[in-house]
Amino acid sequence: SFRALYVDQQLENGAITVHRAQLRTFDDRTLDDRVLEPGDVTVDVDFSTLNYKDGLALAGRPGVLRRSPIVPGIDLVGRVRESADSRFVPGDRVVLNGDGIGESRDGGLTERAIVRGEALVKVPDALGQHQAAAIGTAGFTAMLAVLALERGGVAPASGDVLVTGAAGGVGSVAIAVLARLGYAVTASTGRGDTEADYLRELGASSIVNRADFTEAGRPLQKTRWAGAVDAVGGVTLANVLAQTSWGGVVAACGLAGGSDLPTTVMPFILRGVTLAGINSVEAPRALREEAWARLATDLDPHLLDTMTSTIGLQDALGAAESILAGQIRGRTVVDVHA
Ligand code: NAP
Repeated sequence: SFRALYVDQQLENGAITVHRAQLRTFDDRTLDDRVLEPGDVTVDVDFSTLNYKDGLALAGRPGVLRRSPIVPGIDLVGRVRESADSRFVPGDRVVLNGDGIGESRDGGLTERAIVRGEALVKVPDALGQHQAAAIGTAGFTAMLAVLALERGGVAPASGDVLVTGAAGGVGSVAIAVLARLGYAVTASTGRGDTEADYLRELGASSIVNRADFTEAGRPLQKTRWAGAVDAVGGVTLANVLAQTSWGGVVAACGLAGGSDLPTTVMPFILRGVTLAGINSVEAPRALREEAWARLATDLDPHLLDTMTSTIGLQDALGAAESILAGQIRGRTVVDVHA
């Protein structure tokens, strides 16, 4: 048998009327009886993680789950048990981020999963299983954002780069990677009183208050950033665009502060600013492999440890509320066997 978190939701006119999230034990046969479709891989899961999206799914907030009942969890790290994809053999260490798991297909908060081989990546040799989980969707997304800055020509010599939502998962990894690559990183946080030392340890050279970005400002402001990684969206993203220098790149990763974007075309047509969209869920395989190869070389494993805490499967239910309240620092790994 194996254990998994299980979410049962009923919707009426788009509103969630019933929500149950619990730890359940399943009979081995519920998975083993399922015929693997071409490309499917069965994985013995070691770790999942807790992302903002998982918080929404576990706490019964709308916007993430496309099916019910479902095993939540948008990340998993484990070992291949059985594979109908010729690229994988039993024993391979693998990581999966997104690809609909924990949203429209059963996810990673389980001891056993069947996933699509197409989106599965071998864990780089330099990384352990727990480290790959600590990186998770948030770290993978942060690396996709760094790649977008590089592709847009933003180099360490271009000037300061800003990371918003700094103390969160995406922000923490983005700071650590950018600083290691030689960028001067400014961290924007609402928790400067408690997290300033942590953010400096990750490599931030200065820290600004996120409240500085929450009032609507002029369409073009004094330029401060050669590039930015934004996890917040809304008025914050509009102000970041208005403060980005000529030719700069802003990677839009998230909506922790809102999904609207009250901006003008001015930063784009007068300063040649690029707004680069980041989507981890549907990233094609070549991009996944590139990002994971870079995470193995460009993220200091000791810093990864400082930003990571580990909880058991059952604890994920309570931690969901904390991540939604913005109280979680860095990354949360879920040990599915604990
Ligand atoms: P997280 O750990 O919860 O971090 C989000 C951070 O945003 C918080 O730690 C907080 O940072 C800041 N924040 C929270 N509420 C805010 C508000 N109302 N206004 C301004 N800042 C606020 O979440 P995460 O896993 O890093 O994800 C960050 C965002 O990226 C989420 O919106 C998530 O859905 C999105 N995301 C997108 C992708 C993708 O593929 N595009 C992938 C992963 C995540 P401070 O306390 O430092 O201010």
